[in-house]
Amino acid sequence: MKEIVEKAKKIVILTHMAPDGDAMGSALAMYHYVMDRFSQSSVHVIVPNAFAAFFNWMPGADAIKVYEKEPDACNVLIAEADLFICTDFNDPKRISTAGEKMMANPAPKILIDHHLKGTEDNGRWTKDYSDPAASSACEIVYRLINNDQSPITNPIATCLYTGLMTDTGNFAYSSSRPEVFEMAAALLRAGIDKEYIFHSVFDQFSIDRMRLTGFALYRKMRIYPEHHLALITLSADELDQFHYQPGDCEGLVNMPLQIGEVFYSVLMREERPKPGTPKPRIRISFRSQGDRPVNIWANEVFHGGGHMNASGGELFGQLAQAVRLFEQTYKKYLK
Ligand code: 5GP
Ligand code: MN
Repeated sequence: MKEIVEKAKKIVILTHMAPDGDAMGSALAMYHYVMDRFSQSSVHVIVPNAFAAFFNWMPGADAIKVYEKEPDACNVLIAEADLFICTDFNDPKRISTAGEKMMANPAPKILIDHHLKGTEDNGRWTKDYSDPAASSACEIVYRLINNDQSPITNPIATCLYTGLMTDTGNFAYSSSRPEVFEMAAALLRAGIDKEYIFHSVFDQFSIDRMRLTGFALYRKMRIYPEHHLALITLSADELDQFHYQPGDCEGLVNMPLQIGEVFYSVLMREERPKPGTPKPRIRISFRSQGDRPVNIWANEVFHGGGHMNASGGELFGQLAQAVRLFEQTYKKYLK
């Protein structure tokens, strides 16, 4: 990796839509590493759309450019970039228009990711550091920085810990291998404040967000007991009642899994149609426990994919249509 990065003058780091802790952490850790280690004329982090306010505190977050807010400035950065570093996704569709613009630039592209790849990948990456066995993209960034014998500074460690903590469900999921705890120990030794990181990400609900969570669980959760399945749907009108902000549904899909007999959980959230797109977008999240894949269902029925136990997808249409499709297909895909 060093050889490619050394040559680049204008680097753009990209991560996926509605960035989660791992997307933010891996992109920002790379940002700090590249800035500290190499002498570029410019390094920018671009995210496709707004990130949740509970990531504002992250070192470097204030320098992030949001494509939807500044498309012209971002288009110039992407067109002039001589190196792209993409973290925590592998399908350019997951970064929307920024992905099309990136693919139009023949500059080298480095991928740092831990998702399974689609079949259409056909050599778009100059260097591919994908590892589906890794807990997080942050784990791979950590390996790359260590392999380069470059220091894990406090800002880098803080960003990496954020992604490691969020993508492992606080070190609970099966992806939390011994290496994950070894990495966490090294980050602690680098001087991070893990309580501050936890508190900054998880204890930042607005009153509206907390009430939305209550409403969703009390009024909007349906259980399909014979399939150990829960479904929560939230319409754009309902979200408006709670002044929905990016990130307000983060973690909600996991909550029904706390019910003893629920092993699968699905959340459907309606987004208002954007200008030029007549139909609303229904954003769908899938979660499961144990040896119960949801990624095939997400992929074959809802144009998405992801990990075995955590996937996403979408449908352009009405919420009722998404629910109908869900009810027509769950028996086929769930055990
Ligand atoms: P979330 O439900 O948190 O939005 O997404 C959970 C996981 O599903 C993500 O970490 C990602 O691996 C995967 N995922 C979400 N949306 C998509 C999508 O549209 N396409 C693919 N291939 N994977 C997705
Ligand atoms: Mn991730």
